[in-house]
Amino acid sequence: MINDKIKSKVIGINVDTTRTTIAVVDLRGNIVAQTSIPTKDYPNVNNFVEVLSEQVITLAENNGGYENIRSVGMCAPSANYLTGCIENAANMPWKGVVPIAAMLRDSIGLAVALGNDAHVTALGERAYGVAHGMDNFIVVTLVGSGLGSCVFSNGLAHLGCDGFAGEFGHTCIEDGGRQCSCGRKGCLEEYVSTRGILQTVRELLEANNAPSKMRQKTDLTLDDIAECADEGDAIAIEAWRRSGEILGIALANYASIINPEAIILTGELTMYCKRMWAVMEETFMREVFGNIRDKVKIVISTIDDHERNVLGASALAWKVKEYSLFK
Ligand SMILES: [Zn+2]
Repeated sequence: MINDKIKSKVIGINVDTTRTTIAVVDLRGNIVAQTSIPTKDYPNVNNFVEVLSEQVITLAENNGGYENIRSVGMCAPSANYLTGCIENAANMPWKGVVPIAAMLRDSIGLAVALGNDAHVTALGERAYGVAHGMDNFIVVTLVGSGLGSCVFSNGLAHLGCDGFAGEFGHTCIEDGGRQCSCGRKGCLEEYVSTRGILQTVRELLEANNAPSKMRQKTDLTLDDIAECADEGDAIAIEAWRRSGEILGIALANYASIINPEAIILTGELTMYCKRMWAVMEETFMREVFGNIRDKVKIVISTIDDHERNVLGASALAWKVKEYSLFK
């Protein structure tokens, strides 16, 4: 019998440390329907996969039918596309190496591919966002807790020999600098992240006596620093300037190695980018290799940050063959 039915939808799943979002996504990247479950309520991964499977099937059946779902793409922290495993994720309830793609595939009978945040984001940008039509670009994810990246080269994501390429946040920006959660010192994400920028403010407040409203705040946020900068607070302005300068140097190094058409910035920290933009751009232009100086575009993603990972996961789903991987 010839099977001539083209399946028109995929499932995109974003496994976050607290919540897991499940979406039915069509060919054009429209989220048809979505639901979520609390990740942290399932310390046993078998229970998690069981509940996740039920939700996937119910959501699909209520939105065009399970028979129209082609495949599943999944985004998770410390995910390895090459193995289909979550590998030693720091803040997840499940420890060690978890073969989650194979577990979900066996449970629901659809092909499942797994990727990390930056990898699926790059696929999403290429499928539905500003990287559409680009074969050589870098996506940098500026999430509050850290900084990741993915390089697309000649139309393919560069994943590396072991699947761990793109750890831009753990490149050293200051020899012997701030202690990083990875065990090393001076990593970029200890400077350009929520905790990094807060630490910069703390150091500046300690180092000089300039008046600042931030001295009275016990639980300082990036919004506070942004507001203070708008009011002319010299320390807040200097904190954004330093952050922009460090990001500019790091992006110039990255661009000089890769020679991308564009660098796409995405993630929740991009809402603060305008405060760092001028100095970041100026530093980038000064530090990048001369022959590509006026060619690399630095742009901010237009995909909604809340939809970024499920849309990226759906783009990953289209990349897998309908029959199962990881057998
Ligand atoms: Zn590090």
